[in-house]
Amino acid sequence: MSSESKDFLRTIVEEDLHAGKYSEVVTRFPPEPNGFPHIGHAKSIAINFGIARDYKGHCNLRMDDTNPTTEDTRYVEALKDAVEWLGFQWEGNVRYTSDYFPELYQYAIELVKMGKAYVDSLTEEEIREYRGTVMEAGRRSVYAERSVEENLDLLERMKEGEFKDGEHVLRAKIDMSAANMKMRDPLLYRIRHAHHYRTGDAWNIYPMYDYGHCISDYLEGVTHSICTLEFENNRDIYDWVLDTLGLTSPRPYQHEFARLGINYTVMSKRKLLELVNEKYVSGWDDPRMSTIAGLRRRGYTPESILNFCHQIGIAKANSMVDVAQLEFCIRDDLNTKVPRVMCVLDPLKVTIENYEGSEELDASYYPEDVPKEGNRKLPFSRYIYIERDDFSENPPAGFYRLTPEQPVRLKHAYIITCKEVIKDGSGNITEIIATYHPDSKSGSDTSGIKVKSAIQWVEANTAKTVEVRLYDRLYTCEAPEGVEDLNPDSLKVIKNALVEPALISEKPDVRFQFERQGYFYADPIDYTDEAPVFNRIVGLKDSWNKKNKADEGTAKP
Ligand code: ATP
Ligand code: MG
Repeated sequence: MSSESKDFLRTIVEEDLHAGKYSEVVTRFPPEPNGFPHIGHAKSIAINFGIARDYKGHCNLRMDDTNPTTEDTRYVEALKDAVEWLGFQWEGNVRYTSDYFPELYQYAIELVKMGKAYVDSLTEEEIREYRGTVMEAGRRSVYAERSVEENLDLLERMKEGEFKDGEHVLRAKIDMSAANMKMRDPLLYRIRHAHHYRTGDAWNIYPMYDYGHCISDYLEGVTHSICTLEFENNRDIYDWVLDTLGLTSPRPYQHEFARLGINYTVMSKRKLLELVNEKYVSGWDDPRMSTIAGLRRRGYTPESILNFCHQIGIAKANSMVDVAQLEFCIRDDLNTKVPRVMCVLDPLKVTIENYEGSEELDASYYPEDVPKEGNRKLPFSRYIYIERDDFSENPPAGFYRLTPEQPVRLKHAYIITCKEVIKDGSGNITEIIATYHPDSKSGSDTSGIKVKSAIQWVEANTAKTVEVRLYDRLYTCEAPEGVEDLNPDSLKVIKNALVEPALISEKPDVRFQFERQGYFYADPIDYTDEAPVFNRIVGLKDSWNKKNKADEGTAKP
């Protein structure tokens, strides 16, 4: 790994290895299984699994499942899928904090015996009040004076389910006037009479994150416990628990990095869950969602997401990344990979009156600058369809495509000239009558006719009807608050788009560039041979601020 590409976490890991602090680097990705993972989790996955790979250590996948009311095996599966799809493999079996409940409980008994933890019986409100403020020290509960025997007895009975939710908690006895408010006798256990998706009704008390996380890391032999910045103040508890219990060899340390934020995107599982539950989207894998399942269904590749994570780097200060950068990464990845084919989204019929019979034109799937090979046959006849807005009767300045005066090239085929415009009773254009120039065939053009662009088209009798789903950003504003900021035009469904036959019959790939339209992906759920469905992954250019500029993306002749 070159020094300029080394981030501060890798620097720490290397220093620790050089100092002989650990014999092997062990990291972990510790999601709570209460929702589908999103692109922010991809960053954490890339960091934790990436560091383990780079330094020949290993990374565990641990479900941090200490909250019985929100967790579900469905989310466990989604998390496993996401890690594997991104190309990583966890060490051994998936781990669960819930598997450590017995050990965690034993360590709690030890803390009580050491006089370092006590059962408190204040109400939630009193606990908050007693904690004090940033300016004022807190005060300790009278229950902190309970004897070890009484604490042990109460803790046992909490576990056995003798008390109601909230009646007692177990707290660490640290310092009620600590500058770090988190250190003012933090909660270690609370009572929850709830069914846990794995442990069932075995437990009536559940460990708090700050208590469960550090011990779980220790039990797994984790060396570098990497988390996001909002846990900075929790680090003192992390250290206190491990040091007080004397848990070393190896002793894990927590390191924080900046959380990924992307504009026009929400990235909290709570907000994503709301979109799913309130049916603003079709599900966790709706292609507009920032979930890994959504990006995957949209057509993003693992390479593009990992490259994005690499580009944004790892920093210690939070910042906002432009979603255009993510879009750039998928374009950049697909540009050198996928076949170019033709699709007409809004078909306008063109009859070429001087063309007789039919032929098959040879057309490469790839442009010259893409080092891939592959050709298909393009049927051509007197009847074709072009994109409705590639013709203009009264063209604005700078309109380079077909007009009554201006010929245009049909990509991979001939130059055509408009002869007549046919309209219905309401004045809508229903058909163009054109002529073609026999000596203008692509690749052997001797016509001398100058055209300003080449447009996509399909042959009328052989074209296949497909459904195309045009996705746009889910939110209209940079820092969306909630559903009030949803983009009403984030999905446009076109039922009767037309594509050239080869992409259906030959299936040269599942991802394509539809010439001049963008990159598309055969929807992995809804696509059938009878009713093909394509998702637009991304347009060819960043068009968010350039809408209505007619000639964006016009291909060279
Ligand atoms: P959310 O608030 O979206 O529910 P979370 O932090 O509660 O996220 P967890 O399941 O607890 O999600 O997180 C698992 C791991 O992923 C944690 O180590 C967390 O720091 C990391 N993570 C979560 N969101 C981001 C993000 N936006 N950027 C980077 N890492 C993240
Ligand atoms: Mg969380």
